[in-house]
Amino acid sequence: MPRPLVAHIDLSALRHNLGVARRHAPQSHTMAVIKANGYGHGVLRAARALEAAEGFAVLNVSEAVALREAGFKQTILLLEGFFSADELSALAEHRLASVVHCAEQIEMLEASGLSVKLDIFLKINTGMNRLGFKPEAFTAALDRLQSCPAVGTITLMTHFASADEASGIAAQLACFDSLAAGREMPRCLANSAAILRHPAAHGDWVRPGIMLYGSSPFADESAASLGLEPVMTLRSRIIAVQELDAGDAVGYGATYRAAKPMRVGIVACGYADGYPRHAPTGTPVLVDGTRSRTLGRVSMDMLCVDLTGIAGARIGSPVTLWGKGLAVDEVAAAAGTISYELLCALAARVPVVED
Ligand SMILES: *Cc1c(COP(=O)(O)O)cnc(C)c1O
Repeated sequence: MPRPLVAHIDLSALRHNLGVARRHAPQSHTMAVIKANGYGHGVLRAARALEAAEGFAVLNVSEAVALREAGFKQTILLLEGFFSADELSALAEHRLASVVHCAEQIEMLEASGLSVKLDIFLKINTGMNRLGFKPEAFTAALDRLQSCPAVGTITLMTHFASADEASGIAAQLACFDSLAAGREMPRCLANSAAILRHPAAHGDWVRPGIMLYGSSPFADESAASLGLEPVMTLRSRIIAVQELDAGDAVGYGATYRAAKPMRVGIVACGYADGYPRHAPTGTPVLVDGTRSRTLGRVSMDMLCVDLTGIAGARIGSPVTLWGKGLAVDEVAAAAGTISYELLCALAARVPVVED
């Protein structure tokens, strides 16, 4: 039998979650965000399950070309645009839409001599201060793009820093609206959090990411209460059982020490699989369907779980690290991070099964 760690990807849950996004923003086209290898789920696998989306957003030309070669006809948007002028011919050949966020990219378009018109998403920096033109530079950038022969449709775009938090999007949305006012141009603003909580930001295109994968963008609201279904379930099995005496420790650094005799399960899953090494003792885990906790440090290929009260647990017992029955958001919170990081970090060595 092979090593028992497997990531199960539920394609019908992906489709279901796309439906949730669409129902929240029924007037908008959906640009399914499948960057970072589809948040760890596989970029082509995610695209196939999400084929009802009107568009896909990725980071690299190579991913975009792979989608075209797999037959996808939708809009494909490069979220950071092109990184150098030598990518422009591939954009033209494969009809890839591009973010333009800086003057250097406009210069490359002007100098390109392209005979094909590229669709552009003009990114405005409304306060996140990561990518985009500042409000005072916006009009000049737009004028240059509008008079550039290599530019086709221009969509106005921004990205929210705090759509998932109480501080919200009001200031950024007001800034965007004041710049977009009176212009007959499509608009693209909302990430998952804004789709779910800020209808005023829906615009012509929405950009759902994390919600498609069945995870909540909010710290104060669960995915289940949002009607989202988990897509990735990371499953393994117990490969050894240790009987500890009072005072015995388990794992590197001996950070967990038994107060009384107890049984510990050793699970085939470690940080080289993408499980977070910084998950402390107490991180939730399901053993044989029963909720338990991790003990001690996560090692490269294994981690330890508490078998107290799970009398039937033995070598071969199933373990769920996250997914169905145990929200990845809960595991992420226990490890001091967000589900995005856990999902994206799924290692290439973990076999994937679609169900
Ligand atoms: C990643 C990303 C998204 C998706 O964000 P989620 O929080 O995962 O919904 C949307 N827009 C941009 C520009 C992004 O980089």
